[in-house]
Amino acid sequence: MADLSDDATWRTIRAEFPILDQTLRTGKKLVYLDTAATAQKPNRVVDCIRQCYERDNSNVHRGIHELGDRMTTLLEDAREQVRELLGAREVEEIVFTSGTTMSLNLVAHGWGRKFLRAGDVVLLNEMEHHANLVPWYEAAKATGAEIRHIPLTTDGRLDMDQLDTVLDRQVKLVAVTAMSNVLGTINPVAELARRAHDVGALIAVDGAQSVPHGMTDVTRDQIDFLAFSGHKFYGPTGVGVLYGRRELLEAMDPFLFGGHMIREVTRDSATWADLPAKFEAGTGPFIQAAGLGAAIAYIKQIGMEPIMAYEHELARYAGERLAEVPELTILGPAWPDRGAIFSFVVEGVHPHDLSDLLDRQGVAIRAGHHCTMPLHDRLGLAASARASLAFYNNREEVDSLVEAILAARRVFRR
Ligand code: PMP
Repeated sequence: MADLSDDATWRTIRAEFPILDQTLRTGKKLVYLDTAATAQKPNRVVDCIRQCYERDNSNVHRGIHELGDRMTTLLEDAREQVRELLGAREVEEIVFTSGTTMSLNLVAHGWGRKFLRAGDVVLLNEMEHHANLVPWYEAAKATGAEIRHIPLTTDGRLDMDQLDTVLDRQVKLVAVTAMSNVLGTINPVAELARRAHDVGALIAVDGAQSVPHGMTDVTRDQIDFLAFSGHKFYGPTGVGVLYGRRELLEAMDPFLFGGHMIREVTRDSATWADLPAKFEAGTGPFIQAAGLGAAIAYIKQIGMEPIMAYEHELARYAGERLAEVPELTILGPAWPDRGAIFSFVVEGVHPHDLSDLLDRQGVAIRAGHHCTMPLHDRLGLAASARASLAFYNNREEVDSLVEAILAARRVFRR
């Protein structure tokens, strides 16, 4: 366990992310505040991938030679790392996919299209990322199920006081993000799981933003499905995870068909392999999965708790500093019911212009609808600016953000 509040310790950790230590074409030092879009990777992950390609690369589960064995071991060790990270009971409940988007599509196809019926309801809400909306729209269209929404409060939380008005026995699945990628809202997934189960519904959790910040445990929170992406967990792109309860995964249909996912193939039919292979058709992202395993090992070594404590404190500081900027409105709930994601608007400055001006100061933020058009519609905004933090950021970088926003305001007020 590392004490990230100790400056020397923090600097040692920061040095593991060499990409962060660079001067940009403007001559400014990079301040990377776009982790919610994708996280940077520590040396450990890059080294793991390089070593895999230099030493171990071979297709998995098929080789009857040493390289194949080694790569298979790396892949399966990574699966065990994910199981432990999520608090899942069995390693067979961990399916490697290409990312959160594919994981949620897998549930919407494999479970939704098989088990939803006309008149059933999928309960969503307006703060979801498109990846946890559109697959459900399509599953509903294909089955005749309906979409309903949990109302949001004006400050951007799920309105739990109104949950009873929308959560009844017609609801077969609640699909919800554990942490909003725009509002930073941390949703009460354990309570939602309990309330969903009380009416016989399942819960599918989008953990893209919550898992990297240590907030989700599938056994403690009684979650049925959970999706997250390797690239937001300091790991490589191209790999993600679907956790599903064994009985549910066993009852579901595969989503992709082909090699590896079969038990037996005849001239005109096939049967499916056991979990998790049933959902891992074709050559999967085995090197990326090994890289994700290395990322999880790295985070474990620092300790998720110190990371959470450090990020919590940094987010509190960022919230306070941003609140000092005149005419800046932070979207979403007040501290402390939020994570280290700050979407905001500055009166009179378009978010795209703002991010452009910040880029000239070396500060990398994101502007747009962040794949949440229904949320932005509700907020009456076409776009917002978003700064997102991780344990490799510090207060000085938050100060740089605030100074850059103040400078941008001056440009527009001239
Ligand atoms: N859900 C949330 C909350 C996200 O933030 C993202 C990524 N922006 C996704 C889903 C989709 O993740 P990916 O693009 O890695 O599939």
